[in-house]
Amino acid sequence: MTETTETLAADGIEYSSFSGWIERPTDIAPAVEGEITADVVVVGGGYLGMGTALRLAERGVDVALLESEFCGWGAASRNAGYLTNTLAGDAQMHAAMHPRRLRRAVGFADRSVTYSDGLIDGLGIDCDYERTGNVIAAVTRGQLERSRWNARILTNAGADAEFVDGREFGLPAAFLGGIYERRGGIINPGKYARGLRSALMSSSARVFEHSPVGSIQPTSTGVTVTTASGTVRAKRVVIANNAHSRDLAITPRNLVAPLWVSLVETEPIDPERLRATGWTSRVGISTHHLCLESFRLTSRNTIIFGIRQAETARGALGARTPNPTVVADLVRGFRIRFPTLHDVAPQRAWGGWIGITTSWLPVVGEADRNVYYAVACNGHGLAQGPYLGSMLADRLCGDKAADDLEAVWRPRPRFAPSPAASSTAVRAAWRLDRFADYLDRRNR
Ligand SMILES: Cc1cc2nc3c(=O)[nH]c(=O)nc-3n(C[C@H](O)[C@H](O)[C@H](O)COP(=O)(O)OP(=O)(O)OC[C@H]3O[C@@H](n4cnc5c(N)ncnc54)[C@H](O)[C@@H]3O)c2cc1C
Repeated sequence: MTETTETLAADGIEYSSFSGWIERPTDIAPAVEGEITADVVVVGGGYLGMGTALRLAERGVDVALLESEFCGWGAASRNAGYLTNTLAGDAQMHAAMHPRRLRRAVGFADRSVTYSDGLIDGLGIDCDYERTGNVIAAVTRGQLERSRWNARILTNAGADAEFVDGREFGLPAAFLGGIYERRGGIINPGKYARGLRSALMSSSARVFEHSPVGSIQPTSTGVTVTTASGTVRAKRVVIANNAHSRDLAITPRNLVAPLWVSLVETEPIDPERLRATGWTSRVGISTHHLCLESFRLTSRNTIIFGIRQAETARGALGARTPNPTVVADLVRGFRIRFPTLHDVAPQRAWGGWIGITTSWLPVVGEADRNVYYAVACNGHGLAQGPYLGSMLADRLCGDKAADDLEAVWRPRPRFAPSPAASSTAVRAAWRLDRFADYLDRRNR
C-alpha cells in the first residue's frame, strides 16, 4: 500500500495517510514466500507484535513475524507519543466497573512505563524522549472536581499520580489543573517504532513485511497461518494486529471495536511565544472530556493536538486520511485552548485505528488451541504494548504468568459489544463534551 499526502486547498493542511512523525522505511523486508516453519508466528508488527517477537527471540525461540505493510505502519508510528501510565477511560468508571481489578490494572499500567523506559534505554533508541510525565487536565470547573476525585481514586489504588494546580505546575492558561502522572513523558513514537523495528531486524526473529495474514487454521500439530504469497506452519500463533484483528475469522466475536482518531500538527512556533502560554512544565496534556482532547509540544517547536471526536469503521480498515470536518473541529478546539496562538497555522494532519474493549483494558487470552491474542490497548498501547508482548512471550516459554499479565488475561474468549464504540455513543460523547464546554464558558 502506498501512502498518500495531499494538501486541501480549502484549509491548506497536508493530509497524510501515514504519519507526520516519520517517513516510511526504504528497507522493507521481503514477503513470506512458499511454505516455512517456526515455533511461534506473530501476526502484526506494532508495539505488541514487535515486543512479543523481540522477547521470544531473546529467549532463543524460533519466531517469525508477519506484518501486512511494514513494522510500525499502524497506530505505533501515528500516535500522539504520550508514554504514560494512564488507564484508558475514567478512574471513577474503572472503580465502579471492576473495583477488585483496579489496583492490579493500575500496577500493570505503572510497570508498563518502567518496562518501556528500560527498553528505550537498553536498546539505545533515540526517540526525543522528554521525561516530563503527563497530566489529565481539566478545562472546566466540573472537570476540575472530577480530577480531584479521580486523583484520590488512583492514589488509593496505588497509582503514581497526584492532583496538581495548573498555574503552580506550569500548564497553559486554559488548563485549570489535573492529575499529574509523573512516570513517562512525551516521545516521537515514529522514531520509537523505527528503533524497535531495527532491533527486531538485528535479532534472530525472521521478519516478513508486505505479508497480510488472511487466515489462521488450528491443526493437529499446531497452526497454519496463510498470506497471499506464503504459509507458515507453527506450533503457536500470537494475534497482535490490534483493531484489524476483527477481520480474522478466528478471533472471538466483539473482541475489539475499531475507532479512527486524528491528530493535527501546527507550524513551528517561536519558543518565546510557547513559553508565554504558561506551558513551562512541557508535560503532555490530555483533557477530562468523555472523548479526550490532547495537546503536546514537540522537539521541532510545534504543538500536536487531536482526538476530540472518534469515528467508527465503515467497511475494511484500510489506509485513509483524516476527515476534513473533524480536522476543522480539532483546529477550533486548539484556538479555544490557545487563544494567544490564534494566528498559528495548522500544517499537517494524520490519524489511525485504535482498538476499544468493553472493559477499557487490553485483552489477552487464547482464542483456540495454540491461538493466542493480545490486542486493544484502548488508545494507550505505547507503554502497554511492548510490556504485554514481553509477558506473553515469557508465558509461551513456559514461565508462570506474571501478575500483570493475569490482570488483563481473559480465561474465556467471550466478549460483549463495546457500547462506547457505537456511532451513536461517539456522536453523543462529542455533543455532551461541547455542551459542557459551552455551559462552563457561559457561567464564568
Ligand atoms: C492518533 C492516535 C493517537 C494515539 N496516542 C497515543 C498516546 O499518546 N499514547 C499511547 O499510549 N497510545 C496512543 N495511541 C494508541 C497506540 O498507538 C496503540 O495502542 C498502539 O500502537 C497499539 O499497538 P499494537 O501493536 O497493538 O497495534 P498497532 O500499532 O496498530 O499495530 C498493528 C499492526 O498489525 C498490522 N496488521 C494488521 N492486520 C494485519 C494482518 N492481517 N496481517 C499482518 N499484519 C497486520 C498493521 O499493519 C500494524 O502494523 C494512539 C493511537 C492513535 C491512532
